[in-house]
Amino acid sequence: MRRILVTGGTGYIGSHAVVELMAAGHDVFVADNLCNSKLSVLDRVARISGRRPEFAQIDIRDRGALRKLFAAQSFDAVIHFAGLKAVGESVAKPLLYFDNNVSGSVALFECMQEAGIKTVVFSSSATVYGEPPSVQFREDFPTAPVNPYGRSKLMVEDVLRDVAKGDSEWRVALLRYFNPVGAHPSGLIGEDPNGVLNNLMPYMAQVASGKLKELSVFGNDYPTIDGTGVRDYIHVVDLARGHLAALSALGKQTGVLTVNLGAGRGYSVLEMVNAFSEACGKPVPYRIAGRRPGDLAEYFADPSLAHQLLGWRTQLGIDAMCGDTWRWQQWAAANAAELA
Ligand code: NAD
Ligand code: UDP
Repeated sequence: MRRILVTGGTGYIGSHAVVELMAAGHDVFVADNLCNSKLSVLDRVARISGRRPEFAQIDIRDRGALRKLFAAQSFDAVIHFAGLKAVGESVAKPLLYFDNNVSGSVALFECMQEAGIKTVVFSSSATVYGEPPSVQFREDFPTAPVNPYGRSKLMVEDVLRDVAKGDSEWRVALLRYFNPVGAHPSGLIGEDPNGVLNNLMPYMAQVASGKLKELSVFGNDYPTIDGTGVRDYIHVVDLARGHLAALSALGKQTGVLTVNLGAGRGYSVLEMVNAFSEACGKPVPYRIAGRRPGDLAEYFADPSLAHQLLGWRTQLGIDAMCGDTWRWQQWAAANAAELA
């Protein structure tokens, strides 16, 4: 059993990681400023897990609060999810993204170093990759993110690579997520998006529940299996388990591990629409719209390094991704007051 600090642990992926960490017997402390999540998620985490993680409302940019936390509590490792993630917002407000994601991470690592905590798992993203030499992305492909959000992820990766170069005691895992979707199979926790919906799965879920009229499929003239865009969707529970696998791997070695967390296969938009229609038992209405600027036709992960280094691979398929999302969507619709 280890004692783990989870930043951003009330968020979508963080809350699922907290459940998996506690199921594996770890002691979990969540730090989050609640800018994109609610404390009540921990009540539902407690319902699933039978115990509630400790919590402190902390902004990771606040060195004073972090120093106080590290003086009062001891941790073996940090899993660092806290960050802003909306690509469009990052284009409109780059300084906010660099301050929150980059300066916030630097403040966190600085306070960890002072406290002698030198093990960290960081949420990076497939958006760090640049013009890809093939549609199956490998970790050694060139990086060249095209928006401030992606650049903030690559900057934090670079910071951690330099930190580990300067001090050989650091143990760092940089996990490049592909497209996280799905929800906990209990239907009690899932993604609770705020504001404009940009991503396919939450949009489709709201169309299926009748909150939105129809899905716009962005382009059907790509050189893909059916003309629509192809992505590597990964169930959030598989993703959460990838963090536990990374923690175990870091127990055995110092230095930096950089791995893709993806399924290693892609699904098209229409394949996702069909699977979701099956899951909710009714057709998801859609219309074909123009391509979305900036979208690649197709990409997915080469997950072989994650398997080799972490002993991890995805286990949950498209039916669980859609079925669990639908269960969560129904819970969210029936409990709108709790999420408001
Ligand atoms: P989320 O918004 O649901 O969770 C992030 C959490 O971090 C929220 O609870 C938010 O309140 C908190 N937070 C943000 N800034 C903070 C700060 N300065 N101090 C303390 N807490 C702060 O997002 P998520 O989807 O769970 O993503 C988690 C991480 O994974 C993020 O770093 C994100 O960039 C990364 N990521 C997400 C995706 C995705 O598609 N969801 C893909 C790749 C990478
Ligand atoms: N997509 C779509 N309609 C939507 C949202 C997304 O057709 O309302 C498509 C998008 O063009 C891409 C795929 O679904 O091919 C996944 O998009 P998402 O925004 O979820 O992830 P990303 O493009 O960031 O990988």
